[in-house]
Amino acid sequence: MERHEYDVVVIGAGGAGLRAAIEARQQGKRTAIVCKSLFGKAHTVMAEGGAAAAMGNVNPNDNWMVHFRDTMRGGKFLNNWRMAELHAKDAPDRVWELEAWGALFDRTKDGKISQRNFGGHEYPRLAHVGDRTGLELIRTLQQRVVALQQEDEELHGDFEAYIKVFAECTVTRLLKDEETGAIAGAFGYRRETGDFIVFDAPAVVLATGGIGKSFVVTSNSWEYTGDGHALALLAGAKLINMEFIQFHPTGMVWPPSVRGILVTESVRGDGGVLRNSEGRRFMFDYIPDVFKDKYATTEEEGDRWYTDQANNRRPPELLPRDEVARAINSEVKAGRGSPQGGVFLDVSTRLPAEEITRRLPSMYHQFKELADVDITAEPMQVGPTCHYVMGGIEVDADTQAASVPGLFAAGEVSGGMHGSNRLGGNSLSDLLVFGRRAGAGASAYVNDLTRRPVPSGVEEAKAEALEPLERTGGENPYEVHHELQRTMNDLVGIIRKAEEMSEALQGIEKLKERAGNTASTGSRIYNPGWHLAIDLRNMLLVSECVARAALLRQESRGGHTRDDFPTMTAEWRRRLLVCSAAPDGSNVKVEEQAQPSMRGDLITLFERSELEKYLTEDELAEFDAALE
Ligand code: FAD
Repeated sequence: MERHEYDVVVIGAGGAGLRAAIEARQQGKRTAIVCKSLFGKAHTVMAEGGAAAAMGNVNPNDNWMVHFRDTMRGGKFLNNWRMAELHAKDAPDRVWELEAWGALFDRTKDGKISQRNFGGHEYPRLAHVGDRTGLELIRTLQQRVVALQQEDEELHGDFEAYIKVFAECTVTRLLKDEETGAIAGAFGYRRETGDFIVFDAPAVVLATGGIGKSFVVTSNSWEYTGDGHALALLAGAKLINMEFIQFHPTGMVWPPSVRGILVTESVRGDGGVLRNSEGRRFMFDYIPDVFKDKYATTEEEGDRWYTDQANNRRPPELLPRDEVARAINSEVKAGRGSPQGGVFLDVSTRLPAEEITRRLPSMYHQFKELADVDITAEPMQVGPTCHYVMGGIEVDADTQAASVPGLFAAGEVSGGMHGSNRLGGNSLSDLLVFGRRAGAGASAYVNDLTRRPVPSGVEEAKAEALEPLERTGGENPYEVHHELQRTMNDLVGIIRKAEEMSEALQGIEKLKERAGNTASTGSRIYNPGWHLAIDLRNMLLVSECVARAALLRQESRGGHTRDDFPTMTAEWRRRLLVCSAAPDGSNVKVEEQAQPSMRGDLITLFERSELEKYLTEDELAEFDAALE
């Protein structure tokens, strides 16, 4: 079996993984980057809108405190406030650092990095490259990896002496030291040959992204089967906030083969409006009380805001994503949807054609090629799509360390930063900020070790991976997968009810049995059916966490809407739901954990009148005490 020794193994080569690996290598650690798909093919590359960072280039009133407040409001105050603070403070440095490494951002007239408007952000804040920001981010980080490899070649005569990429390689188990229980490496297989591979390393950074492939309608691509979430859980770490799933309001709804593909929020940020079948800009009917004073109440004011933000409030099309997704859902349910079951998103009557193709080139091509719709001349049809998971591995905010020694996590696979709802643009900045912190945290952990952990469990991991190939006449993994996707979409989707979630849990239990009996025909050489059979374990485990946590949380907040508990309550805001499981994936438990009180200097960044909408009486008393 192929074996490699490293100091730090980073699983995932999106923005978080690459930034973590760069940091570990810069701190002198021998680092491996392992990724399931081709190097460069990660969700990060698909990110369109931009990276949120309070640089104040377009509006000088912006600063980290305003960004912190927006992030907490977006997450409905359930965020890990220390992460939200570090994110808001570090993000500008991380964007400038990217520029120093060669990123070519769009510019303002006076030559600064340009920043665009996005939902929930008070000021223009997203550093961007047209609508292809993620591509530039990944290109720059990959270029940085290559620059470091060139340095290593000069110093050590080997490009891969300190940083090496293992592409098309799926990790299926984390390995631990039997004696101490600390992380000791990872086990996986090469997708092309089916050959097994062992990484022997005292520190592992999980940066595997999201879980969207457990839902039928999703913007996520095939890799996003919740692997990192499941790997962490099986290794004894905890997942938090798993009930919060972001349904992006605007996915394509037609033709069926592309249903769910993302339509970037930049369309609305740049002036696009949502209309129902009656031609009404319905978002004005859906401004919730907590946001009433921040959004325009007439179309005229909303339109004026695009050119005069100092004297007008932003249009409600730019409310946080959870609000817009629910509003679209309600319009469609009320029979005011578009012919293909979405609503209309129109930029054609709002901007000249050449401006649309300049600002939104990818969207123009996406609709022209996939749906034969010319967005410069006609509206798009859009509807909600499963996009992002707010929940993830519970980590320490400063170091990104999980509860299992030697395990770190960054990016979408980690939890806490975004609370119950992520603001657009806060993911790309999250990857850079916490990717760097995870790389530094893992390096510091390795420096402090007195004994190198010894990996155990390799034979068990190999036997587990081979099971689907050794069975004959079992279930088809594609059928089990499709049923899981339907179950999650229909019963634990955008609007949730207790009976439906209980039904989903019963369904998941049956699907677990069926998944344990899947058989894959063919050999280990490039066999997608076998790969899916392995991924099913992860999707089922993560889906169970989502459904259990969602059933327990009896309120509606951010990416968790209960038909039977439609309001948000201060009591529930103080409670975090934490998932754990046994090493074989059984005994999934969800337990309550108290949300720590916000530090005095942070809580006093808000007005009392705003906090009254979210906090308990006890917390308000803490606020009063902090003011004195
Ligand atoms: P990813 O970039 O998702 O990378 C995960 C990596 O892990 C991949 O390399 C994958 O191959 C690897 N991996 C997974 N499982 C395994 C395994 N078992 N073994 C080995 N490797 C594995 N956010 C914004 O802030 N702004 C935007 O404009 C924006 N637009 C978006 C548009 C789309 C279409 C999508 C889908 C998302 C968008 N997001 C945006 C969200 C954002 O792109 C993602 O949340 C973010 O890129 C996740 O980055 P990551 O580094 O955590 O993981």
